Amino acid sequence: MTDCIFCKIASGLIPAKIVYEDDRFVVFPDISPLYKTHLLIVPKRHIASVNEVDAAGDAALAGIFAVAKAAAEKVGVAAGGYRLTVNTGLHAGQVVMHFHMHLLAGEPLKPL
Ligand code: AMP
Ligand code: ZN
Repeated sequence: MTDCIFCKIASGLIPAKIVYEDDRFVVFPDISPLYKTHLLIVPKRHIASVNEVDAAGDAALAGIFAVAKAAAEKVGVAAGGYRLTVNTGLHAGQVVMHFHMHLLAGEPLKPL
């Protein structure tokens, strides 16, 4: 995992503007935001994608929705609403192979 950019951010090796952190997750802004608010919710444990989730990975991801809610509240978009997205694999356009959930908000979002 030494070459994984999100492992490096999660471990503090590469600095990021951390919006929220607990023992299992870090949340920081996407470097190339699609909307006014675009956060990434990243487990500290390296899980490549949903396709690699096993029992241990599932446990590592437990509580992710509460983290999303806490981050949305912290940046002031909870009341206005937000979208949570997880890209998995090639056809979904996943480019960083460390599981992450996008939190999109801050303005009206294009319908899916
Ligand atoms: P995905 O297509 O779901 O794999 O999205 C990966 C996201 O990670 C993209 O929206 C990128 O802009 C974002 N990203 C890549 N490198 C960084 C980085 N160093 N810091 C923050 N966001 C990043
Ligand atoms: Zn990683």
